[in-house]
Amino acid sequence: MAFRTLLCLFSAACLAKQPNVIFMLSDDHSPASISAYGPSHLTTGGFASTPNIDRIAKTGMIFQNCYAANSICTPSRAAILTGQHSHHNGVYTLQDPLDPQRRHIAHWFTEAGYQTAIYGKWHLETSPQGFQTWEVFRNQGEYRNPTYLTLDAPKKGHTEKGYADEVSTDKALGWLQKRDPNKPFLLCLHFKAPHRNWVPAERYARRFEGVTIPEPKTLLDDWENRSNAITRNHQTIGRDMTVNDLKTPKPEGLQGDALRQWAYQRYIKDYLNTAQVVDDSVGRVLDWLKANGLEENTIVIYSSDQGFFTGEHGFFDKRWMYEPSTRMPLVVRAPGVTQAGSESRALASNIDFAPTLLELTGVRPNLSASEKFDGASLVPLLRREIPNDWRTAVYYRYWEHNSNEHPVPNHFGIRTATHKLICYQGQPHGMRAASKIATPEEWELFDLVKDPNEMVNVYNDSAYVDVRKTLTAQLKAERERNGDTR
Ligand code: CA
Repeated sequence: MAFRTLLCLFSAACLAKQPNVIFMLSDDHSPASISAYGPSHLTTGGFASTPNIDRIAKTGMIFQNCYAANSICTPSRAAILTGQHSHHNGVYTLQDPLDPQRRHIAHWFTEAGYQTAIYGKWHLETSPQGFQTWEVFRNQGEYRNPTYLTLDAPKKGHTEKGYADEVSTDKALGWLQKRDPNKPFLLCLHFKAPHRNWVPAERYARRFEGVTIPEPKTLLDDWENRSNAITRNHQTIGRDMTVNDLKTPKPEGLQGDALRQWAYQRYIKDYLNTAQVVDDSVGRVLDWLKANGLEENTIVIYSSDQGFFTGEHGFFDKRWMYEPSTRMPLVVRAPGVTQAGSESRALASNIDFAPTLLELTGVRPNLSASEKFDGASLVPLLRREIPNDWRTAVYYRYWEHNSNEHPVPNHFGIRTATHKLICYQGQPHGMRAASKIATPEEWELFDLVKDPNEMVNVYNDSAYVDVRKTLTAQLKAERERNGDTR
């Protein structure tokens, strides 16, 4: 009996030493609207202010160059859970469900003895698997009085009063309060905001009334000298927004630049106002950890499933391989690993999140061949060591070819520390394509040092012949290394 008690105590103590994980993920939160990321058209002047996300950065590490492997919601979420590119995890587009048989980070943590839960946005079509507890929105969910699906009511769900991300945060904190303190936990708190159609909480709804928010330098971009693909976009602020987006009809007679500028103000205010509740909620979680003495044994991560155009190039939405769309916020506080206020400029990706969490917690699942990670653990970077063989380019692939609402052709490319090469393949790929309409193959090359806003395509510039040759070879090698040559 005494021996058994001792053994139980011993194993509980072992588990308790493993760090807890709180992984907070928002939907479409652009680094340009997070103050820890420094000056932007939104943070300068304090229009976008995120003191709580900034707290994680100040007490941990901020990643300046983290990129989504496929910049759209469902595929990015699958890449985060599996550590794999779309062509390996099977989630290529918004229409592809995550295979319920597919094992991922939640299974591995649960099997290692962690208490696991997810609250809020799931958006992977099939019910969450691997988590012991889940309460998630149906598809996108509603900003006000959201419906949650649960294990007991996986189809019908139940509706709750309140603002979605505040309700999810209440649920997450309630779960933490009731958890078994002798076992470590993995808590995923996934926010709805600031996703379209940007419905703010009442308390923020009138915050920017009468205020003019600064525009990005490229708001009135006419896309000259870039691909024809970009000129066919359906995500131009004003022109491609509905009454549902703008919450008011477009003024009669307003068009062109004036319409874009007017709609930008409508849009960006709602965007920032919805995002503010995310930051408030992050603050509530951090306060709870502090009040409960768990700061020293809990890894805290904040990210978003991709970036978002907050007016750059005249756009809203994501999908394109341009910086505002693919660049993700990523701040990590890992006690004993990260140094307070540190920064990494190394190239990171959402396919790195799963291997990072496993290494940080010492959870070691036996991965089958089909579960092998495409990404790499960020732990050396968190320790401020860059391995000699760290990637020199991030590989990108978008598959939702020319979908009706936002026609963006299939494209792939690489982003290095200094350049970006994009191939708009233009050809639909079987059932993965949202449309069968083929568009011409086109290429873009950007010099990110001279042209960080990606306004000048130098693909056919004679001064860039050598750069183009080198990057083309590097892209081909990346495609072959990743087994993605279709
Ligand atoms: Ca998203």
